[in-house]
Amino acid sequence: MNEVKKPKKPLIFYYGIVLLIVVLFNSIVMPMLLERQVKEVDYGTFMTMIDEGNIGLVKISDSENQITFTDKEQKQVYKTGMVEDPTRTERLHKAGAQFSGEIIEEPNMLLSFLATWVLPLVVFYAFGHFMTKKMMNKAGGNNSMMFNMGKSNAKVYVKSSNGIKFSDVAGEDEAKENLTEIVDYLHDPAKYTDIGASMPKGILLVGPPGTGKTMLAKAVAGEANVPFFSMSGSEFVEMFVGMGASKVRDLFKQAKEKAPCIVFIDEIDAIGGKRSNGSISGGHDEREQTLNQLLTEMDGFEGNTGVIILAATNRPETLDPALTRPGRFDRRVPVELPDLKGREEILRVHAKKIKVEPGVDLSHIARMASGASGAELANIVNEAALRAVRNGRNRASQADLEESIEVVIAGYQKKNAILTDKEKMVVAYHEIGHALVAARQSNSAPVQKITIVPRTSGALGYTMQVDEGNRYLMTKEEIENKICTYTGGRAAEEVAVGTITTGASNDIEQATKLARAMITRYGMSDNFDMVAMETVTNQYLGGDASLACSAETQTEIDRQVVDVVKKQHEKAVQILLDNRTKLDQLAQYLYEHETITGDEFMKILNV
Ligand code: ADP
Repeated sequence: MNEVKKPKKPLIFYYGIVLLIVVLFNSIVMPMLLERQVKEVDYGTFMTMIDEGNIGLVKISDSENQITFTDKEQKQVYKTGMVEDPTRTERLHKAGAQFSGEIIEEPNMLLSFLATWVLPLVVFYAFGHFMTKKMMNKAGGNNSMMFNMGKSNAKVYVKSSNGIKFSDVAGEDEAKENLTEIVDYLHDPAKYTDIGASMPKGILLVGPPGTGKTMLAKAVAGEANVPFFSMSGSEFVEMFVGMGASKVRDLFKQAKEKAPCIVFIDEIDAIGGKRSNGSISGGHDEREQTLNQLLTEMDGFEGNTGVIILAATNRPETLDPALTRPGRFDRRVPVELPDLKGREEILRVHAKKIKVEPGVDLSHIARMASGASGAELANIVNEAALRAVRNGRNRASQADLEESIEVVIAGYQKKNAILTDKEKMVVAYHEIGHALVAARQSNSAPVQKITIVPRTSGALGYTMQVDEGNRYLMTKEEIENKICTYTGGRAAEEVAVGTITTGASNDIEQATKLARAMITRYGMSDNFDMVAMETVTNQYLGGDASLACSAETQTEIDRQVVDVVKKQHEKAVQILLDNRTKLDQLAQYLYEHETITGDEFMKILNV
């Protein structure tokens, strides 16, 4: 797809060439041409030509003191100086010359004027016009080009047989169902207009990154067989103020010409963020102008023009309310992370594109890849294919897929990370600590795999737990158990190694996050009842929370978070003390084998 572009020469280069041509033309070619037209000869030649009868038109100019004449065929113009010659007129008459007042000299003046002044101007103008046109045509190209500024870079994906269809987008059934109506409308608008219904002008696709929002928008265009204009919100915001607005104008102009069509604005939050209400908005001016233009354009056309605007964002809460009010982006289609079934379908769609061994269990892979987005799943399948090639096989196996989940989650195995024996033992205890605590509590997801092979992400080892099915609700006990499992690694270090390490930093972060959410958002504390102390501001991008309580309450929250984690940590230590022999046995086994499966783990635990 990547277009290889030749390095561009600056415009001045081409103008230089034209100038050079004009100078050469004027200084060499024109004189030569004129020379050819008027040849200066001596009086003797003139006489000879008269005597030979080779004379056509003759003009004798006393004032200029020269004679201009042509040969018989009037092909060549000559001139010669005037000489006192009383017989000249008679001889000329005899030779059959025609005396005339004006011959070619005058047109020559005009011609030379045209050639030296008008022609270069015409060439300059035509050249400039040509170059401008050429650059304008390169929509989607280099937008720093002066000529292209203000022209939208919307790419036109004109329908094609290999265009994306709904069947390419796996899972996301609700989103597809919602968008099918749009496709139907684009196919047969009369059905809707007859009853008086008008389509929503704008549809907002909201969801985490990589869930297929762009794909869905393309699929709508593909299914409806209409052109697809796509532009990213950040592309509107240019370096010159006012350019974003003119790009919006231009995009809509193009779209209206091509209607019915789909206009897709990715990352609409880049321009559609809330406008500041202060008078001095400073650096946001450009963005605001762009947003205002977008709103104006959306208001400017009727619902039934056939232009459907789809926009995607993963930060819907930051959008300006003016953008989401009825008449603009009034329909919101959630495109969520896929559930178990969705993940399996996505894996299936992508596995079709590569060669896989027969009997590969994609539902197992889907279960392992809990929380993965469509883009991550596509990546997992591709990694598996790459791994197969690396290992000299021509089909991806179950092991390739399983390994690539780990690659996508935790990074590649770090081959040259040399842990000392002691470090390796500590990591083994740490991981078995997690697994053992998980296994000894009810309601914990079964352990799938434990490994102490370091990863490029920095993880020295990890324990993979895989839920059997989808989880939509979690009980208080389950969250507590989860926190307890997070603390299990550090607890094992305390119980078996006698000291603590930095290896638990990620566990600490996760445990704190959960404990905090229990108290501030899930109403699971003893004394705050069902009061929200935090609101999630960024649910699709990591879920940042902002506090909404007094300083005293914050202190109390912090205290309670510590209590929750501490209680679970103590519980984990107790579980490990109760299972001390198993802890040693399993850590030793992991130390020797580096990677063990959940089945191996359970076997040793249950003997
Ligand atoms: P978004 O716009 O939501 O960030 P994209 O539509 O760009 O995500 O998806 C990125 C890639 O992830 C797609 O090219 C596709 O390969 C894969 N993908 C994401 N969701 C799905 C899905 N539901 N079905 C199939 N492939 C998907």
